[in-house]
Parts: sequence; C-alpha cells; structure tokens
Amino acid sequence: MTESVFKPKKRIFMSLTSISALLGALMIYVVWKVTVPGLSEIHYLLPIVMGVIGVAIVLLMLTGVFGIVMALLGIPIIKIFYFGAWKAINILFPFAVVLGRLFNIPRAKIEQSFIEVSNNLVLQHKVKVPADRIMILTPHCIQLDTCGYKITRNVENCHQCGRCSVGAMLGLAHKYGCHLAVATGGTLARQMVMQIRPKAIVAVACERDLTSGIQDVFPLPVLGVLNERPFGPCFNTRVDVKKLEAAILAFLDEEDANAKEK
Ligand code: SF4
Repeated sequence: MTESVFKPKKRIFMSLTSISALLGALMIYVVWKVTVPGLSEIHYLLPIVMGVIGVAIVLLMLTGVFGIVMALLGIPIIKIFYFGAWKAINILFPFAVVLGRLFNIPRAKIEQSFIEVSNNLVLQHKVKVPADRIMILTPHCIQLDTCGYKITRNVENCHQCGRCSVGAMLGLAHKYGCHLAVATGGTLARQMVMQIRPKAIVAVACERDLTSGIQDVFPLPVLGVLNERPFGPCFNTRVDVKKLEAAILAFLDEEDANAKEK
C-alpha cells in the first residue's frame, strides 16, 4: 500500500542532483588546478593536502548520490549511506534549484521531486515507532475559514463535522493514538515539535513548507504528504486521508499496528 501511495516522481530531482554533483566535482578540480602554483609556493606539500581534501569532498558527494540511487532502486542501504544520502540531497538541493532554473523546470516540480526522494529514503530506513511518538503536523489553512472552533491551541476543540479535513485527521489520530498538531506558522510548528518530542513526523503542507520543514527537523524522520489546494494556496486546503493513513502506518510499530487490527 505504501509503495503505491508514494509513487515514483523522483527522476527530476535525481537528475539535477547528479548533474550538480558532477559539476561540483569539476569545479573543485578546476579550483585546485588553478591554485596549485600559488599553493606550492607557500609549501611544497600544500597542493597534495588540498588535493586530498578535494578528493574527500567529491567522494562524500558521490557516496551520497550513490546512496540515494541505491535507496530509490529499493536496494537496502546501511545507516552510513542513509546519512550520506540525506546530507547529499540537502546540500545539493539549492544547486538543483539553480540548475532547474536554467532548464526551465519550475521550483515546485523540483520540490515535489525532492519530497518523493526524501519519502523514499525514509521508507527505506524502515523507521518504526510507537503510535504516541508519531506526530501529524499540518498548517492552519487546512481548517475551514468559517469554522468558529479554535483548534490551534487544542485540536480536540474540532467537532469533526466533516466540512474540512481536520475532522478526518483527528479521527485518524484517535484511531492510532498519535498526536495531531495544527500550526499557524513555522515558529509554532517548531515549538510543537519541541513540546511533543516525536520520533517520527507525518507532515501535511505545500511543496515549499514541506521541503523546508523536512530539512529543518533532520535527523527526525518525516514523511511528507502534499496538501490539496482546490481554492488556491493557503486557503481551505485539504488532504487525501488515504495517503495520510498510509504514512502513519509506515511509521507505526508492529505491536501498535496489530492492536489496531484486532
Ligand atoms: S471538521 Fe472541525 S475544524 Fe473542520 S469545520 Fe468541522 S469543526 Fe471546524
């Protein structure tokens, strides 16, 4: 179920990341080559030292990209590759955006692809936590604008009337025993994470917020679920409850998952 929900859309980010890594390697070589005469005048060993540092950076970058490719192909990767891959996608993300601009690829598309790659890495890592350590985090724009209940301080104030997605999300939180938090902005979201101290987060948001949020809370594992925006951005947004439930189940440890089936 999880696989079909997080369907592959990762090629854009992977291609841009790989090109960025190769360009980065080329740039490091060119900088080293140009500075060699000056360096050797300072000390004859300096070009070798700088060369070794340059090779180490390139190897780290390529190891990261290799780790991502392995994960996307479904080949299990060891923890060190997971962290390498994670670091690589974060370091190379800004370069991928710049390259995307050159190739006329909209930023939102690259962000969507980044989220897919990130979800895939997290799923590969097979993080399993108890239900009460899972946090569902969503922005306030998911609440119906005319709803009079104050849910940001206490989401239990929602009466689950079904006019917006909050009711269904609260239903899932109750069903599995995980936390649901509705934040009015990034600062409040960070405070809520500090307060609840989850071990895994299922985040619902737009491309931009998911991308920055995922990077913000690393190494906390996050599964990102893109919101739906039938009325435009930041207004009466919605979420596909099936996708949300699949993300919760992906994190839920076996004991809690079995308990819910009984
Ligand atoms: S589901 Fe909850 S938050 Fe949404 S409109 Fe109904 S009471 Fe308000």
